[in-house]
Amino acid sequence: KKAEKGVCGATADVIVARNFARMVAGGAASHSDHGRDIATTVLHLAEGKVPDFEIKDPEKLKRLAVECGIETNDRDIMDIAREVAGRALGDFGQQEGELAFIGRAPEKTKEMWREEGFMPRGIDREVVEVMHRTHIGVDNDYQNIIRHSIRASLADGWGGSMIATDLSDVLFGSPKPIRARANIGVLKDDEVNIIVHGHDPTLSDMIVRAVRDPELRKEALEAGAKGINLGGICCTANEILMRHGIPVIGNHLQQELAIVTGATDLMVVDVQCIFPSVVEIAKCFDTEIITTSPKAKFTGATFIDYEHGDPLTTSKEIVRNAIERFKMRKNKKTQIPQESQDLIAGFTAENTFHFLGGRYRATYRPLNNAIIEGRLRGAAAVVGCNNPGITQDYNHVVIARELLRHDVLVVETGCSAIACAKYGLLTPEAAMEYAGEGLREVCEAVGIPPIL
Ligand code: SF4
Repeated sequence: KKAEKGVCGATADVIVARNFARMVAGGAASHSDHGRDIATTVLHLAEGKVPDFEIKDPEKLKRLAVECGIETNDRDIMDIAREVAGRALGDFGQQEGELAFIGRAPEKTKEMWREEGFMPRGIDREVVEVMHRTHIGVDNDYQNIIRHSIRASLADGWGGSMIATDLSDVLFGSPKPIRARANIGVLKDDEVNIIVHGHDPTLSDMIVRAVRDPELRKEALEAGAKGINLGGICCTANEILMRHGIPVIGNHLQQELAIVTGATDLMVVDVQCIFPSVVEIAKCFDTEIITTSPKAKFTGATFIDYEHGDPLTTSKEIVRNAIERFKMRKNKKTQIPQESQDLIAGFTAENTFHFLGGRYRATYRPLNNAIIEGRLRGAAAVVGCNNPGITQDYNHVVIARELLRHDVLVVETGCSAIACAKYGLLTPEAAMEYAGEGLREVCEAVGIPPIL
């Protein structure tokens, strides 16, 4: 019989709680550090240090400023940006009080969080405290460990992740519904294929600008390509999909497969979800792997310091590398699966109001009425990743279809959204096939897909 306790006396509950809490800390730290990077870019823009970027959604910036209690009247937009970025960055190091965007949560929920000790005080503080509590011989009460994990998760969701989302809209523009295609069949044998993979739109959005540069398109034509084909993998794919209609090549478990087609000339990555194996696999083909973040270097890959370089110039350099790789690859055989699907993406909490309420009366009323009348049973978020232990996309698609069948409107992001996009569920037509009667009525009346 195996020992029931660790050598220090820790029970299985304590050990499991500690391991779980450290996973929470890892996830919260990663999402939130992404938010910190976006806020830092806004600050640097306001200070004139990164002129290649711009404030694409000044109205949203002003709304965020008002939410944070920052004066907006008669102020230069860059002054406002500096102060909003400063407030966002302040949430990371804050020791006491509440986060800037926590005010969005319902009052009752906030009361409960305060009473239960779940209200996050500062983003970094809660993550560091998880690491302290789960260090040897500190928090030895599994319930207490889990309770603090909740606080760290809320620091991410209402702090780092929310900052990343909102300030990305400010920097790159708020998404609008847009048509595109998803799946590996969007690769093109006769074009320079570039894949952006990872999470941070400060890289992927600038690569979009670079591939649209007429000079570079001319260079691609001169190299014998019919054009430059940009696609995305993982969450950064969603960023450029919903803002520019760039096709999604796939989600997490397709990163190696995209290279194995032999058609990927260059894969440029930043942070999170990038397999170390892509470097080895790329060596079997003419694919170049470029890493760009000092936080995420890969042995054997080309490192270009995007963070400390000039973003547009660096992005153009990356595109030129891809054109060189195309020259090496152009007469070789490729194997690109034909599958790809139409989709509509880019629905946000802000713009969905307009679809539901019409152009002049932005409101959630049609949605609320449908719920009150029992035609809709609610809305559910399905988010997250794939696990190589389970058939790719299976869970996401099965769960989403079941929810639709039971008249639940689904909102998605991450690899889950990409999974459902590949199965054609992000189209208005999907409501006809998969939605229950009540949800189908709402989707038909408003003209939205059953999964947003
Ligand atoms: S959903 Fe998960 S696996 Fe997919 S890109 Fe995001 S974090 Fe990575």
